[in-house]
Amino acid sequence: MTTVVERLRGDGPKFSVEFFPPRDAEDETVLWRSIRELEQIDPAYMSITYGAGGSSRDGTIRNIARAATETTLVPMAHLTAVDHSVAELRNVIGWYASVGVRNILALRGDPPGDVYGEWVPHPDGLNYAEELVELVRSLGDFCVGVSAFPYGHPRSPDLDTDTRHLVRKFRAGADFGIAQLFFDAEDFLRLRDRVAAAGCEAMLIPGVMPLTTPRTLRTTVKLSGAPAPSALLDRLEPLAGDPAAFRAEGLDVVTALCERLLAEGVPDLHFYTFNRSKATREVVSRLGLVPARA
Ligand code: FAD
Repeated sequence: MTTVVERLRGDGPKFSVEFFPPRDAEDETVLWRSIRELEQIDPAYMSITYGAGGSSRDGTIRNIARAATETTLVPMAHLTAVDHSVAELRNVIGWYASVGVRNILALRGDPPGDVYGEWVPHPDGLNYAEELVELVRSLGDFCVGVSAFPYGHPRSPDLDTDTRHLVRKFRAGADFGIAQLFFDAEDFLRLRDRVAAAGCEAMLIPGVMPLTTPRTLRTTVKLSGAPAPSALLDRLEPLAGDPAAFRAEGLDVVTALCERLLAEGVPDLHFYTFNRSKATREVVSRLGLVPARA
């Protein structure tokens, strides 16, 4: 099975897509419709997030295995250390390997509840993503990704400390990092500069969310950990009552952001899809990232 890094090497910039585990059968049908639609335009890889609860975790494991065995896509499984002993983490990693998943996004995660809630370590578990990177690496020939935060992780006291911890994850064996959502290309580029200035040549990939609705804007604000710039709010907020106009403007904003990132040489744009394919297909097609045969 191909690795993420192999997919991103050479041949110009790519795009990739992220899903979350379905909550029920209806959700699963929607998810698979999107996966199949996106498969046709050849993303570099696809990933499924890892939740905090048992059924959601089963959903990740089941659907990533299905993607590995039934599609042409390169799958990447997210994995978090939340509420897992090291023995359990070993089992999940071993299981991923057994179904042919070679790419793992190694995260500490957050306990259930608030998106950046208080960290509670498992008594026999791990404390930081760095340790999970080491564990995954020790268990096989995996390609390992980690998270990165353009505005710093909300728990980090300052950007220097945050950068130091990020670089530790690369030194522990991570092959690439995917950035949390941000608003301005400069915010991502400054993160890339900080990592380079620390003497680290890691591959950094921007995370992008198509801004199709006021909800996607709120989610971007929440996940980024930073307030939206007033110029963006001035463009989008007046359109909140007009879904078609909001969507059109939001996709223009995101396309322009992606164009700037591509001009700066990013190897990949990682799309948070919300388990829908249409907006991502539209943006990547406007960017000229859809292969001619698709
Ligand atoms: P870490 O890298 O361990 O960092 C957590 C905090 O500890 C940071 O403040 C960091 O600076 C600090 N730190 C790190 N190492 C050290 C150290 N050695 N010593 C002292 N301090 C240290 N969450 C999910 O639950 N499931 C998902 O599938 C998921 N996917 C994500 C995908 C992406 C691309 C991103 C950007 C985030 C994702 N998250 C997911 C969210 C993530 O789990 C949270 O942001 C979580 O709060 C931190 O996880 P981390 O891996 O960044 O932790």
